Amino acid sequence: MRRPDLHLHTTASDGIFSPAQLVQRLQRADVTLFSITDHDTMGGLEAAEEAALLRGLAFLPGVEISTEGEAEVHILGYGVARDDAVLLSFFEQMAKDRIGRILAMGDKLKRMGFSLDLERIMASAGGSIGRPHLARALVAGGYVKTVSEAFDRYLGDGKPAYVPREKMAASYAISLLKSRGAVPVLAHPGLIQWPMERILPLLKAWQEAGLMGLEVYHPSNRGDYAKWDRLARQQGLLVTGGSDFHDEDPRHGQLGETVQAWESACEDAWALYRIAHR
Ligand SMILES: [Zn+2]
Ligand SMILES: [Zn+2]
Repeated sequence: MRRPDLHLHTTASDGIFSPAQLVQRLQRADVTLFSITDHDTMGGLEAAEEAALLRGLAFLPGVEISTEGEAEVHILGYGVARDDAVLLSFFEQMAKDRIGRILAMGDKLKRMGFSLDLERIMASAGGSIGRPHLARALVAGGYVKTVSEAFDRYLGDGKPAYVPREKMAASYAISLLKSRGAVPVLAHPGLIQWPMERILPLLKAWQEAGLMGLEVYHPSNRGDYAKWDRLARQQGLLVTGGSDFHDEDPRHGQLGETVQAWESACEDAWALYRIAHR
């Protein structure tokens, strides 16, 4: 069976496999069309493109942008150009903001008397530093027993070492992607745990900003595929899907997984591919 998988993470963000390792596994899982959608970076796309060529898989370059205007919402962008200067500087700024925030939280912890080697923590985190890295350092230092205790006592929203993030609205990410010729798609809509009456007006506003698709076939929508599929088609949105594979943790999807329930997977995925390649 030919399967698409349009939502995948690599070591360029928080996945465990490099693009080349991932492509090898995709081939074994009979995936024929795939997209790499790392969080807020296009760093894995060149290697993925090379690996796809080598193994004869169709590849759609992508990215997943984290936003939190109205709610915590992720926007997928398909058909991004990995050398797009505007997008590159946008992601660079996001990375700077993220690092600045983690350093500020680290400083707060140090002032509270914890001994932390921030430079080492930054170096160990590679591309995408986040609160979990500070939490793990607190565990390693013996200050707390678990990562979740670190969040409950110090790092969670409103806790003593917390520093809020710069908030970016989903519509901003959508119009940016659109203006760069990419296809903006709302990722895992089922994770926005709002009633439909609240989601519908938002969806309308996002469509006005340029939203073109809905990620119906995502593991978190399991059980609700028919509802989201109907909604997407009613609203004139492209239907997309992917496993959101990060690692072998069962909380994330496994390679090629969502396609089992996605009857029109090939038509839908190739429709997206054609539009994103224009
Ligand atoms: Zn996501
Ligand atoms: Zn994802």
